[in-house]
Amino acid sequence: MASSAPSSARQVKLERECELRIEVGENSPLRLRLLSGTAEIFGTEIPPEIWLNFPPRLKFAIFTWHGATIEMDGGADTSDYVADETPMISYVNVHAVLEARRNRAKACSSGDSDSSQGPRVIVVGPTDSGKSTLSRMLLSWAAKQGWKPTFVDLDVGQGSITVPGCIAATPIEMPIDPVEGIPLEMPLVYFYGHITPSQLFCGLCSNNIELYKVLVKELAQTLERQFAGNAESRAAGMVINTMGWIEGVGYEEKLCSMLRDVLKSKPKVDVVKLQKSGGVVSRTPKYRQKSRGHRIREYFYGLANDLSPHSNVANFSDLSVYRIGGGPQAPRSALPIGAEPAADPTRVVAVNISQDLLHLVLAVSFAKEPEEIISSNVAGFIYITDVDVQRKKLTYLAPSAGEPPSRILILGTLAWLES
Ligand code: ADP
Repeated sequence: MASSAPSSARQVKLERECELRIEVGENSPLRLRLLSGTAEIFGTEIPPEIWLNFPPRLKFAIFTWHGATIEMDGGADTSDYVADETPMISYVNVHAVLEARRNRAKACSSGDSDSSQGPRVIVVGPTDSGKSTLSRMLLSWAAKQGWKPTFVDLDVGQGSITVPGCIAATPIEMPIDPVEGIPLEMPLVYFYGHITPSQLFCGLCSNNIELYKVLVKELAQTLERQFAGNAESRAAGMVINTMGWIEGVGYEEKLCSMLRDVLKSKPKVDVVKLQKSGGVVSRTPKYRQKSRGHRIREYFYGLANDLSPHSNVANFSDLSVYRIGGGPQAPRSALPIGAEPAADPTRVVAVNISQDLLHLVLAVSFAKEPEEIISSNVAGFIYITDVDVQRKKLTYLAPSAGEPPSRILILGTLAWLES
């Protein structure tokens, strides 16, 4: 690639501890490079002189601790501005505290299990408060120091590790690439199947929060087992991103005092209140929906269309589809007079394959038997592209050709319209 500056490029000089906030336009990508100094994107240093490409609609910031000059070459609809007030010092101070705790844990790694445990951070706050961004920074800064912290994503709405509708965990071995995100090596994934903890389900408003809690417990137990056998990842600890359950202005204050109150009896838990960055961009429901679609597309086709998913055909009889929850717990006749049958949120129900499956994303479970579905993580996902009820054949897109690792599929409400 030519290293000379294109005619449309312009330079931005950043003073120390300032950041350049960028929203790439709807229609054209952006290129930029670091001409001098040092700078990072959400905790990951950018290499000098190399042109980096950013896709349309990406919102991010380039922060410098000591000053930098950036050269940008983007479409007219890209917007950017420089901010000299950021909460980065307080964020990096949190990192320094975590770093000390990791070192302490490492020094005790042959000792008792409590002191060899590195820091476990959970980031909470409203939607669009910068939780994912802070999680990213803490992970990337730790990875830069050579740790392999575990990233746990409990946000079923966006899916920063895999497709939306899942909770997942993965070790972070290198600072996170600002464009490519988290590498999808072998994440530990549990399929919840919906994009909010309470979801309109088969026409019924069924609150699946119980299922969500059960899956979080399963994920936690599996991670706990992994940490028991791996002193290195135990000492590096975890960063857990959550979803914005706490909606509404003014809740931040409440959230912090509420947490302090609830955790009073747990002296080992510190509650640290951090400021939201002025750069965090609010995303409309429509934008979120679009980015969910992009995440699913990326799972099958890759970020740069670099994967070749395979269209497979299976007989209905080769696959077993299940959904979790929604079914009534007991017949009305078995209940006390006046009581309504409640949906059992963790009941596994076999589903007849029908046109209703069209355009849904299903998870391929590692379960061997239906009873194991809840406690099993998932191998991956398929996307239903055709249901031929007459011939009893199902056509689906999968990341690769051949048999899926299991015939047990889990159905939720995760849909996608391939465009
Ligand atoms: P949350 O996880 O709380 O919903 P995010 O961390 O995903 O919030 O932030 C919302 C959006 O704002 C994301 O697109 C993110 O890239 C963007 N963003 C966060 N911090 C900044 C910043 N300092 N400058 C520009 N964009 C930012």
